[in-house]
Amino acid sequence: MLVAITYHEDFGKRGFSVLKERIRPSFEKLMQSGLVDGDEVQVFKAKPAPLELVAEAHTTAHMANMQTDPYREVAILSAGSVMMAAEIVATGQALRAFAYTGTAGHHASRGSCWGFCYFNDVAITILRLRQMGLQRFLIVDVDPHFGDGTRDFFKGDADVFHINMHGGTGEEHDPLKNNYDIGIGFGANNERFLSALKSALELAKDFDFQLAFVIFGHDSHQDDYGGFDLTFEAYPKMAQLIMDAVGDKGLVFVLSGGSCVHVAERVIPDVISVLAGRWPS
Ligand SMILES: [Zn+2]
Repeated sequence: MLVAITYHEDFGKRGFSVLKERIRPSFEKLMQSGLVDGDEVQVFKAKPAPLELVAEAHTTAHMANMQTDPYREVAILSAGSVMMAAEIVATGQALRAFAYTGTAGHHASRGSCWGFCYFNDVAITILRLRQMGLQRFLIVDVDPHFGDGTRDFFKGDADVFHINMHGGTGEEHDPLKNNYDIGIGFGANNERFLSALKSALELAKDFDFQLAFVIFGHDSHQDDYGGFDLTFEAYPKMAQLIMDAVGDKGLVFVLSGGSCVHVAERVIPDVISVLAGRWPS
């Protein structure tokens, strides 16, 4: 198996209201694409993340606040989807993975959350991967919104190289702690986005990591809500640039922002086709 996909039908049924409508149609398009017909790309049913790991990542107060939240269960299932995808990659069963989610994670800090996020799926997964003996990670956040929650977790952790692309302006680099903010402005087009991504990946080229995550928000599409002005052509190019930079190390795409059904129906199968080495399919 080359690519693992983790999915659960609850993401489309019980996911955050803005995010959930895209889930089932995009998954159905993927099923019809022919990509999953052989053994190379396989789908796994996501399971909830272990509660003790969620509680280890977040503060007691945040766990208490979330106790009665209507999205709590689907957020734990979303973190479990990312964790399952990463475990499959970390154990060498697949080289790459794509994790569906029903809530996002990058605005969830240790003690608070906003913006369709409840628990930080990637931070919880890194706890698990460190239990398994992995230590160093690359996170490339291409969602147009600033990944403040992920930064809260890893701002002091030089073993996590965090590239945070966002719609603000200016660049801020903290090379000692491996935190890189790349503001390309709201309205950024394909060329601007891809050239900034290429330069950002260049910064990471001497960083030795064991597994890479991509916080993949397609709210960057011009028809979607996130504010970048990307068109469909940008997404396979983005995936290819990241894949070239990651090489033969593990790579996990984590579904983040985005609500447009017609965008998800195209960009998710396109990205998975790149991950499977089948682009153009
Ligand atoms: Zn976003």
